[in-house]
Amino acid sequence: MFMTEKTFDFDEIIKNNMHTHSVFSKCAKPEMTLENMIRKAEECGLETLAVTDHSDPGDDIDTYANYLLLKQRLKGFDTPVRVLIGAELSAYGIGKYAEPYEVDRALDFASYAHIHYHLDCWEQPEDRSPRGYAEHELAVLDALLKTGRADNIAHPFSPCKMPFFNEAEKAATLAAITDNELGDILEKGERAQCSWEIHSPTFLCFPEFSKRFWNLGREIGVHFCLGTDAHRLADLDPRPTAERMKNIVKS
Ligand SMILES: [Zn+2]
Ligand SMILES: [Zn+2]
Repeated sequence: MFMTEKTFDFDEIIKNNMHTHSVFSKCAKPEMTLENMIRKAEECGLETLAVTDHSDPGDDIDTYANYLLLKQRLKGFDTPVRVLIGAELSAYGIGKYAEPYEVDRALDFASYAHIHYHLDCWEQPEDRSPRGYAEHELAVLDALLKTGRADNIAHPFSPCKMPFFNEAEKAATLAAITDNELGDILEKGERAQCSWEIHSPTFLCFPEFSKRFWNLGREIGVHFCLGTDAHRLADLDPRPTAERMKNIVKS
């Protein structure tokens, strides 16, 4: 169980990058070794670096073995950065989880993806409309938050993972979520002591929704954390996009 401190100051939020991929994720660049990631985190002045490699159903990845290996390697580094070895775990449908509960709880940081709809293994809603996806996402989150598995929700409300929709339809999946529904699920997250990721690529892509997400979260008093979803070293630094994100919440 790990949570970043509750703050609504963006300059504080960007001191922790809670979503990064090492070479244990097939989609990450070969430069994403633990050593390079730690050195880059030091360079950027990060206080916390969470390594969150993918853990999808049916992949050939042993999340727990990788966790132990990275923890072991971590012992060899002397760094002021708090390095958490976690995973981007999968809630791949309503009540469907890729890892046993014990593995989730053993990790330093259990961050949950629940909208990898682009993967074949992922449950799709019966109603394939934008509203259908919005309802499905809320139902997956509702079930997940009841389990106590998640420390964080990775890229919540991110239609970027719905390649079958055009840009207008992607935005419609967000507009289809009412303020009441959004407030309700954010509140459930906070009660479950689970943070909500500000996923910088999504946050910048859908500013209108990002503002609602931020304002409601702030009103309710949720824990927000930042994740750049870095697959290469250059993206490990949250600072280059911070001003644009601040402008969204200010506007
Ligand atoms: Zn993801
Ligand atoms: Zn990711």
